[in-house]
Amino acid sequence: MAYLNENYLKLQAGYLFPEIARRVREFSEENPAAAKRLIRCGIGDVTEPLPRAAVEAMKAAAEELGHRETFRGYGPEQGYEFLRSKIAQFDYRDRGIEIADDEIFLSDGSKCDCGHILDILGEQNRIAITDPVYPVYVDTNVMAGHTGPVRADGSYEGVLYLPCTIENNFVPEPPREHADVIYLCFPNNPTGAVASRAQLTSWVKYAREHDSLLLFDAAYEAYIGPHLNPLPGGEEDTGRGFLGNQGGRPYAKRQVRVNADIPHSIFEIDGARECAIEFRSFSKTGGFTGVRCGFTVLPKSVLARTESGKRLSLHPLWHRRWSTKSNGVSYPVQRGAEALYSPEGREQVRALIDHYMGNARILSEAACAAGFAVHGGTNAPYIWVETRPGRTSWQTFDWMLRELNVVITPGSGFGSRGEGFFRVSAFNSRANAEEVARRLRDASGPDS
Ligand code: PLP
Repeated sequence: MAYLNENYLKLQAGYLFPEIARRVREFSEENPAAAKRLIRCGIGDVTEPLPRAAVEAMKAAAEELGHRETFRGYGPEQGYEFLRSKIAQFDYRDRGIEIADDEIFLSDGSKCDCGHILDILGEQNRIAITDPVYPVYVDTNVMAGHTGPVRADGSYEGVLYLPCTIENNFVPEPPREHADVIYLCFPNNPTGAVASRAQLTSWVKYAREHDSLLLFDAAYEAYIGPHLNPLPGGEEDTGRGFLGNQGGRPYAKRQVRVNADIPHSIFEIDGARECAIEFRSFSKTGGFTGVRCGFTVLPKSVLARTESGKRLSLHPLWHRRWSTKSNGVSYPVQRGAEALYSPEGREQVRALIDHYMGNARILSEAACAAGFAVHGGTNAPYIWVETRPGRTSWQTFDWMLRELNVVITPGSGFGSRGEGFFRVSAFNSRANAEEVARRLRDASGPDS
């Protein structure tokens, strides 16, 4: 009999979303009328249709494949040149960042990339992960055998956790301890936090001093403001933040946070070309969650060591990994992604992001008006809300479900430091966002 990978047995049962589904199902069976009013603000999936430019490009590409003269079979495993060059040009070189076309590797999305990258890294690495966190970073390391067993609070032995708290504005400082591989995600899922240039500079400095590797997830970089979203009042969002309230008392004035110094890419930081890999996705820019396309940026200058102490570039390993294990992303999808860089495509992507950030603003303001303390939501499509004092995140989930018929995500599902918070996703129609806002405002009584 074949042996199985016992690391999988260490994984906590996929608890969060199945448990949400179970509670929603139970509630819906008991309350069929209320079930019809349910609005889901839980899952981070987009709701709006694909940009027209991408649809037309994919249709045209499919048509090409249907004719002998224009048919194409296997493409380059790392992605077609037409797309790699657009990404390198528009997302990096036009912004003053030195990235070569062949340092871009196309994939079917950054969730997969976050897992696959472990193929080229050693087993010995000490991993550092933020808490709360996008669970994929943790679980892929558990699967690869890079952790010990799970503890009672859901954390894993052998992992260095970096707490993200109100006190550090959900951006951890580099630790005193050594870590070989550090996962950072900004704008962050679930907290919606962004890291300043100074904060990212301190991480790059740490990585260079410790010979560490930063795995930088920039899936939400396009949500960094300013946003021009025509909101119902015709107001323009200048990208300045509103941070909610403190102790249940709404701030009299909006908090002003200037966005100019929030990097979109880790490679905006000097020295990052020697110590960072970046993950990006078309899922939340072009609405490609179902289409599937993302990419990694791996500069040739990023080195890692062998057991015997040799320092070698990771780039050829990643190139080889793609050549051996994949035949790349489908041609029509790559043409669709390319179209997002056309003038119309860029405008349509902008409109999508402005739409979701308009929702984020509506939801943040409503949660704030209901007396909740609100974080995130100004440079990210996620709002990270403090539960009422003494309420757990699951109790708040139940209250929102029963009283408001709104589904949110309990913060504790993202790690033990997520307890005391819940995540509201701005991925929704405008009508749903406005309805959730109305329900929140109506529920601002003392019991809420
Ligand atoms: N990284 C983060 C932080 C995410 O929140 C998500 C999706 O929700 C992804 C990566 C995955 O994106 P993709 O759809 O490209 O796999």
